[in-house]
Amino acid sequence: MNFSSKLLEDAVNEFSKLPGVGQKTALRLVLHLLNKEQEEVNQFGNTFIKLKQQIKHCSTCHNISDYSICEICTSHKRDKETICVVEDTRDVMAIENTGQYFGVYHVLGGLISPMDGVGPSDLFIDGLVARMTAGGIKEVILALSPNMEGDTTLFYLYKRLKEFNVPVTTIARGIAFGGELEYADEITLGRSIITRVPYETAMMK
Ligand SMILES: [Zn+2]
Repeated sequence: MNFSSKLLEDAVNEFSKLPGVGQKTALRLVLHLLNKEQEEVNQFGNTFIKLKQQIKHCSTCHNISDYSICEICTSHKRDKETICVVEDTRDVMAIENTGQYFGVYHVLGGLISPMDGVGPSDLFIDGLVARMTAGGIKEVILALSPNMEGDTTLFYLYKRLKEFNVPVTTIARGIAFGGELEYADEITLGRSIITRVPYETAMMK
């Protein structure tokens, strides 16, 4: 692409770095922003600067939050004895949208993936083990995407959690293998949480 302005080119290049945004789309978005009032563009830019500077991760469950402990962890309405383990904040949002889960979460921050060089120590697994060690947990639900990385992580977590003698369940496989939790529709995801099964039973199938 030949640009008439270096400023324009730089802006387009920044947008092109975003996932799924090609140069043509980036140019369209940049030109759109350029036509906005200065105040609106300032607000657009400042929102992301503020996001990056001020966002926190809950010190208990590692979910993204505006506070050092998230609103789910501090809510008196949530069942603190049930922990649902998920890959990232998108899964928390997907499960919250089902309206079928009232426990708390633990966000791993990814899945074990030897191919990508992601091992257990790269994830917030020690934090989960620490919560188990602290006691008072009656069930751990492993709600991970039904793909290779999800299964590897399930297996690893199950081994780590076994010693606590707390039921470890996994969400029912209403979700097709190879899929991702965030793409499951709310009804399917909601149902798969309600009909969760002990991990060992799920693996024998
Ligand atoms: Zn939290």
